[in-house]
This record gives sequence, structure tokens and C-alpha cells, in this order.
Amino acid sequence: MSSESLVRADVDFERQGKQFGNLAVPQSTNSAGWAKRFIPVVVIKNGSGPTAVLFGGNHGDEFEGPVTLMNLARRLEPDQIQGRIILVPMLNRPAVEVGTRLSPLDGCNMNRAFPGRPDDTITGMIAHYVSSTILPMADLVVDIHSGGSSTLFLPSVNMHEVENQEQMRKMLDAGRAWGAPYVFIYRDVAGAGLLPTLAEQMGKVTLGTEMGSKSQFGVETLGITARGVENVLDWANILKRSSASAPPEPQLVAATEEADYIMASASGLFEPLCELGDEVKSGNRLGQIHSIEHPERAPIPVLAQTNGMVMARRAIPLTLQGELVVALVRPFEFS
Ligand SMILES: [Zn+2]
Repeated sequence: MSSESLVRADVDFERQGKQFGNLAVPQSTNSAGWAKRFIPVVVIKNGSGPTAVLFGGNHGDEFEGPVTLMNLARRLEPDQIQGRIILVPMLNRPAVEVGTRLSPLDGCNMNRAFPGRPDDTITGMIAHYVSSTILPMADLVVDIHSGGSSTLFLPSVNMHEVENQEQMRKMLDAGRAWGAPYVFIYRDVAGAGLLPTLAEQMGKVTLGTEMGSKSQFGVETLGITARGVENVLDWANILKRSSASAPPEPQLVAATEEADYIMASASGLFEPLCELGDEVKSGNRLGQIHSIEHPERAPIPVLAQTNGMVMARRAIPLTLQGELVVALVRPFEFS
């Protein structure tokens, strides 16, 4: 099996100017034996300089990325930048079209599909093209997420704690430059194969975000996303701006313990007893889960297992055993 991607781009990543195009992913379906699925891609290039790659719609129920990056792609002209910007506003376009986290075509989670394979199902084929062709061009990688259908978040820019201290320092600088209220250091508690993890491992200055949730989608979260993208492109010396006020200093927070991510111990209706931003102590009751089958039973408490602040909580009451209900963070120190 060749390791070469079967995905074809109809843009020239080296050409000066602005191009709207597509990544064409081969598909064979019930309605067409020979077909392609198109993933929109935009390239804006002016002279030489660093390359920023920005992704939206990695998860199909998180819309801040698609809207922000489509606005940016239409608005930005090559003479406003120095270097190159590659925008993929709807990385998992099939999922964006139906508003689901996972792809409706193969059931896969794009953000667990990296690095992918050229002979994978469609999600893995897209991931492989990104891994092998797009990410190597990048100096700065931005992957815009939010809590989607299931989770409410305090608006934040996020990253893992990477071993390379120089890379970590640059990522924190870029994170601060965004201007979101929080810079959030997280760990993976739900599997491997994330786009940002791979980009970090490739040594790229990498930022993810959690801008809110599907139900928080609106002027405030879109504003934090749009201003943040421009602030970070300015930080990377790609966007030329005559004047920009310094962004407010964010709080650096981290959820470094597995116990900071509280999963439901039973299925049922999750009733929150805390809100985003609340300071809580280990043992505090953060919520409770009511049994649907046994209304006579007392609800099962959701207890904090660490001290911290509520960074995220479940956005919807219906909950299955093992699903995240609350995530706690503490101040993060970087010397
Ligand atoms: Zn996401």
C-alpha cells in the first residue's frame, strides 16, 4: 500500500495571492460509484514569512470555527499579511453539515483520527492529508473548538503541557496574545489521535480553544474567537496591523489530575449544583444524578475529588455512566 494520499487539493499552496478551493477526497457511494467529497480550503499568501494553519469544524457541532474562519477568509486580502495563512473552516465538513460531533459517513471522531492513513475511511483520509501535507507547512497551528452539544466551557485557549520548554513558552505567549479570559492547560482523558497533540509533537506552536458550547453560540463567543484569531496572527507577525490594543491578561489554569475530570458514576438526569467559575473544594456536591428507572431513590451525588474552579460542566441533563459532568482547574504556574 502506498503511503501517498489520495486526497487532491485544487489550490497551489505556494502561489502568491488568495485562492478559494477544495480538498477532494475520493468516495464511492450508493448514489455514485465514483465521487469526491469536497473540504473547503483557502490559501492567502504574500511574500515570504511564517505560515499559520487554522482549522474549524474539526467537530461538526462546534460552529465558532467555521463562522470565524469563513468571515476571515472573505475579509483578508494578501496585502494585509506577510507570509501565508491556510484556512480549513470545516475540516469535518460532513459532520458540520448535520451538526454532529462525529462524521455521519463513518462514525469517526476527526479529533481522534490523527495521524490517519491514506487507505482509511474518509475521516482518517482527511486526517492523513492534514498530517502529511498541511501540518508540515505550518509554524503556527490553531484548531478552534467549543463544548459543542454536550459541554459548557469558560471561553479559553488551550494546550497540553509539552516537554520542550521553549515550545511551551511560545505556546503560552501565543495563548496570552489571543485575549480570551482563560488559557487552559489540559490532559487527554478520552483517547489519543488529537490534531493538536500531533501538531505539538511536530514542534509547532499549537493552540486549541474551547469557546463555549452550542447553546452559548452568539455575539460574545464569536467576538472572542474572531478577535483572538487576529490577535494571534498579529503575534505571529503574519497579520499587519497598524494599531492594536494589548489584549487583557488571561488567567492561566490547568486541569492536570485525572480526578479533575469528573465522570458520571451512573446514568440518569444530571442536575448541576455548580456553575462555571465557582470555586469548590474536594468533597463538595457539584451536582446529582437522578435515576429515570427509580424515582424513589435519592439522586447519586457528583462530588469534587480535587479543589479547584469549575471550568466546564455538562450542558444537557441526559447523561450516561462514564460521561464527563464537571471539569475543575487550578492556577497554572510556568517559570
Ligand atoms: Zn471539539
